Amino acid sequence: MRHAVFSGDGRIEIGESGWPVAAPAEVLLRVLACSLCGSDLRPLRNGWPVTPGHEIVGRVDQPGHRLHGQRCLVYIPVWCGQCEQCAGGHTQLCENATDLIGWQRAGGYAEALAVPEQCLLPVPDDVPTHLAPLLLDTIGTAAHGVRLSQALVPAGRALILGAGPIGLGALLVLQQFGYAPVAVFDPNEYRRRVAGELGAVALDSVDGRGRYPLVLECSGKDAARQAALEAVAARGVVIQLGEADAWQVNETKAIRRKDFYYVRSFYFPIAEYPMNIELLRADMARFERLVDARVPLDGLQELFAQFARGERLKPQLSLAPHDRGDIR
Ligand SMILES: [Zn+2]
Ligand SMILES: [Zn+2]
Repeated sequence: MRHAVFSGDGRIEIGESGWPVAAPAEVLLRVLACSLCGSDLRPLRNGWPVTPGHEIVGRVDQPGHRLHGQRCLVYIPVWCGQCEQCAGGHTQLCENATDLIGWQRAGGYAEALAVPEQCLLPVPDDVPTHLAPLLLDTIGTAAHGVRLSQALVPAGRALILGAGPIGLGALLVLQQFGYAPVAVFDPNEYRRRVAGELGAVALDSVDGRGRYPLVLECSGKDAARQAALEAVAARGVVIQLGEADAWQVNETKAIRRKDFYYVRSFYFPIAEYPMNIELLRADMARFERLVDARVPLDGLQELFAQFARGERLKPQLSLAPHDRGDIR
């Protein structure tokens, strides 16, 4: 089968290998689509030992298995079901999930991969294939962060820093949860414009200290973390969704002299998947706006270049554009 090799310095080569072998309690999944993610840019720069790609939808190809022929998403953490976190329903926090799919084990920039059974999330028939990956990082991660914060700040004005896929996904999620108005800041003009089209107050600078009861940091940039901590209102919440290796924040007066909550949220528990499907169903046409390019394996290198320049929102590798369930 063909698969992408991230060989460093932004290079993607297409390799050939044998079909993956599903171990006991795993299935072979034929990839239909795999969405690009900002977190892939680090493996793209540094090179990566396994096939990356972690926002995967595919079709189970495992004759005899109860899910054979079914479209499924891939839940990234290989959770154990035994530890204290799993027992409490917090599957994304599994203490034994050393492997993340697309990170420590082979992911979805390939024609197929082997997936542990407990990581298969069946996709309902009415959800088009190309929109299904939005249920993972874009909707799942954003909605989980908001759910964690809802008890503290149930309504009101919100600010999103960073209008990449997570930020724009968070915008659509916040609107459904009833927050308004939602302001969005991004230095990138294209992303800002899309945020405006989707109903946000688009900002070209962050206005006002202590003004927002709810702030979502979706960029992973130090400057945005600093701005988030200053922009949050007293007794408000900062939700940290963006990720990066290093942090540097200065404790200014605008940060020091107030009570506020800082919520870090990682991915989402499997138990929230049905609710996330409802969020997608309720606003499918606008979520569709985020999937702004679909290319075959040979187009991945160029697509990543466009994505890294901020010219694409949530593009995807699409290996079977005419597969059943894909209405476009
Ligand atoms: Zn991702
Ligand atoms: Zn566990």
